Amino acid sequence: MLTLLAEEKLFTLPAATIAGHAHQSAHADTSTPIHNASTGATIGWQQQASAAQIDAAVRAAHAALPAWRATAAATRGDLLKKIAELIESNRDRLAEMQMQVSGKPPFEAGLDVSDAAATFDYYAGLCRDAALFAPEAIDLPDHTITGERFYESVGVAALIVPWNFPMVTTAWKMAPALAAGCTVVLKPSEFTSPVEHLLAAIIAEAGVPDGVVNLVNGGGAVGAQLTTHPLIDKISFTGSTASGQKVMQAAAQDMKRVTLELGGKSALIVRADADIEGAVTLAVGGAFANAGQMCSATARILVHDDVYRKFMATFETAVRSIVVGPPTGADVTMGPLVSAAQRDRVQTLLAQGVDAGASVAFSGQLDSACANGFFMAPVVIAEPAADNVLWTDEVFGPVACVKSFRTDEEAIALANDTRYGLVATVVTADKEAARRYKSQLRAGLVWINTPQLIFPQVCWGGLGLSGIGRELGLAGLRSYQELRHAIADAN
Ligand code: NDP
Repeated sequence: MLTLLAEEKLFTLPAATIAGHAHQSAHADTSTPIHNASTGATIGWQQQASAAQIDAAVRAAHAALPAWRATAAATRGDLLKKIAELIESNRDRLAEMQMQVSGKPPFEAGLDVSDAAATFDYYAGLCRDAALFAPEAIDLPDHTITGERFYESVGVAALIVPWNFPMVTTAWKMAPALAAGCTVVLKPSEFTSPVEHLLAAIIAEAGVPDGVVNLVNGGGAVGAQLTTHPLIDKISFTGSTASGQKVMQAAAQDMKRVTLELGGKSALIVRADADIEGAVTLAVGGAFANAGQMCSATARILVHDDVYRKFMATFETAVRSIVVGPPTGADVTMGPLVSAAQRDRVQTLLAQGVDAGASVAFSGQLDSACANGFFMAPVVIAEPAADNVLWTDEVFGPVACVKSFRTDEEAIALANDTRYGLVATVVTADKEAARRYKSQLRAGLVWINTPQLIFPQVCWGGLGLSGIGRELGLAGLRSYQELRHAIADAN
């Protein structure tokens, strides 16, 4: 039975959900407020899981593991399919909750629901492909010997997710983990956990056995405790590179498997032959969707000198027409930042960049509807120095930089001049040039003349400081499995 948290006046989320049961905190003073990002109002409270509750959640996942791992993949797939259907039938509730905690405009909240449903549906489909879960014979040179490779679930997985796309990031981890036969302990971000509580209720309603999915609430300290628990076999983490480094260090102790999806400082390149209107549309989406709070934000925009003036004029018109406001506002195209702290962080970085010489070319505006929430107008910086913090560091807010270039070599060198390597976008009418960019840009995913399209069939993950491993696709499933082999006497 689902509880629509938003219907209650001031809800309190339990500290943990362990083996299907909600566990309250013994210490009410550890509760943290959950805000409506558009109004700043407290809409509820989240209790924090204690060390004992974290331990109990991991042990519940560990106890549920043998039965879940032994469940036929097709049966697991049926449950994933049911989850996808329930996400669809609870679309409005999920979107509403997402809009409340993050302030996303309705179309963005709706996209998150669609993505989560599509991800569960995709892994449900993989579960029905028996060959993916069956042992595979290996052709060996000695025919008196047989070789076999097979995949087994890694075990208990800790899923630690951030606040920018809570439902989506959770689905990207949860669906392949369950498909692979892992049991999980989920740690949502303390800013957006109501969304995951709703999702966890949906998963329980679908009939996933108790103990397979457990949830602990809390901030970084709770996440850190999870990462050191000896019964956790795998950690899948999405968040900042700094926290990802701590997770990897914690994992090293027991050689826990890790998938890390971290930051980015990605480029969008506009060649001289590009359709400028189209390029501007991609630039607005790449830099300001989700108020710029995206690991994939293409906030370093490189524009060929020949079209720079035209691009900037068109970009300025587009940015000035972005309507910032709460999800309830008419025609709103950009929501607030997730929290006051995140807005302060972004504004501090912006001030730092400007103090160091970056100049604001133009910006958007806020009206009275933005008075109380965590809003910030979009800002565009022109020609920052190569060492300016706004050009080098992940801002994670609505701040984009534009730089001009003269040759493809220069554009590729500028785009690759970062230790991150998550995504890149190229806008060009020249197919041959696009091919060159695709191979020379250091990024896990390159979009050519398209918005930031994401499909569960296509893997996601980056190079360098952007992380380790791949989510989604078949690789996403395999990342929750150990590859094992057997060699036997054929007789
Ligand atoms: P964090 O990386 O700190 O948080 C991500 C998740 O990890 C949250 O659930 C967080 O808990 C948890 N966490 C934090 N520290 C640890 C730890 N040592 N061990 C295990 N889990 C931990 O991101 P922030 O929310 O602090 O955001 C700061 C910056 O990080 C942003 O401005 C942005 O630059 C980047 N970021 C990148 C994201 C991406 O998609 N790549 C997503 C979010 C942020 P909790 O939040 O509850 O405290």
